[in-house]
Amino acid sequence: MPPPTCVTPERTGSPSPVLPYARQHIDEEDIAAVVEVLRSSRLTTGPRVEAFERAVAEIAGTAHAVAVSSGTAALHTAMAALSISEGDEVIVPAMTFAATANAVVYAGGTPIFADVDADTLLLDPERVASLVTPCTRAVIAVDYAGQPCDYDALRAVTDRHDLALVADGCHALGGAYQGRPVGGLADLTTFSFHPVKPITTGEGGMITTDNDAFCRRMRQFRNHGMSADHDQRRRDGSWIYEITELGYNYRITDMQCALGLRQLDKLPGWVTRRQAIARQYDAAFADLAGVESLRVRDDVSHAWHLYVVRVDADGGRLDRATVFAALRDQGIGVNVHYIPVHLHPFYLDRFGTGPGMCPVAEAAYERIVSLPIFPAMTDDDVDRVVAAVWKAAG
Ligand SMILES: *Cc1c(COP(=O)(O)O)cnc(C)c1O
Repeated sequence: MPPPTCVTPERTGSPSPVLPYARQHIDEEDIAAVVEVLRSSRLTTGPRVEAFERAVAEIAGTAHAVAVSSGTAALHTAMAALSISEGDEVIVPAMTFAATANAVVYAGGTPIFADVDADTLLLDPERVASLVTPCTRAVIAVDYAGQPCDYDALRAVTDRHDLALVADGCHALGGAYQGRPVGGLADLTTFSFHPVKPITTGEGGMITTDNDAFCRRMRQFRNHGMSADHDQRRRDGSWIYEITELGYNYRITDMQCALGLRQLDKLPGWVTRRQAIARQYDAAFADLAGVESLRVRDDVSHAWHLYVVRVDADGGRLDRATVFAALRDQGIGVNVHYIPVHLHPFYLDRFGTGPGMCPVAEAAYERIVSLPIFPAMTDDDVDRVVAAVWKAAG
């Protein structure tokens, strides 16, 4: 790592002094695959889209995968599959990217913010159970940082209350829970192919499911709600279609899916590389007072989208803002994932959320920093981050 064919812009010219927290990896084969589509007759809704869907379904171990234009569109489409609408409550973790909750709002539903486990920052099944009301329809579990949630515990809650279980797996493609791959652990699982995510298509997303009816509904939803797509009408020799419910244009292009297919081939090696980097960080910070890594359960294969440390979990000696600034000063592109969603003004204004609702997530937010982790990082890059963290915390 990394192969010499890497054409990531920062590496082709003079090396950038800033090491980002995440970065895509594009090689010449990826570029050739996209160019090949550009020379073909189908730029969208064509054979590359279907092939990419089949490949992701295979990794997830599901009957179906539906490709869409982003991870956010995937979440909105999953809400449509479940017919989430006004009056419905959907439980989401407070510690996630805003899109998880925004998608519930797009569908007309009300996001209910649940607190997370203090050690893993994953959705706490007991908190979920305590928030169920007669209006609750679904739970969206987020595999934060790439670690799969405790799906057995979550499933016990959703089964007891007859709720749908959705996995926001945007961080976790390539991960597994008790030997079962992410993608087949919930009724619907969403993925994102944004450049910082496990694989990229520029922008893009996918929903995996075993449910035939959900699949049909989602294919219609991503294409304006039309009852028959272009290929179907051509096969039938007909111009007829019906809009049976309101849909959107959430289609993805064949250029993007050609890239996604190439990226998917490299996913297993990339996950292995991320896991190796995480082990190096774990070892390097084990003896560093005031810097604590998140806990990893022993029944998961972690996909390590993010490597998050909590600065000074006890004692108050190290201030997060100071550590963050010290790392940025040393050219380490640290970030913070995430500002708890229920603290954003939109949610305060619209849903009356606010500080105190999810104390574990709020306290974690004050302390967390995401360190660089991506497959093309060299061992020297990792050493550079380790040295910078020791210096910042020293
Ligand atoms: C990235 C991300 C999304 C949204 O994906 P986009 O492809 O950027 O729309 C949703 N949920 C989580 C947890 C994410 O990290």
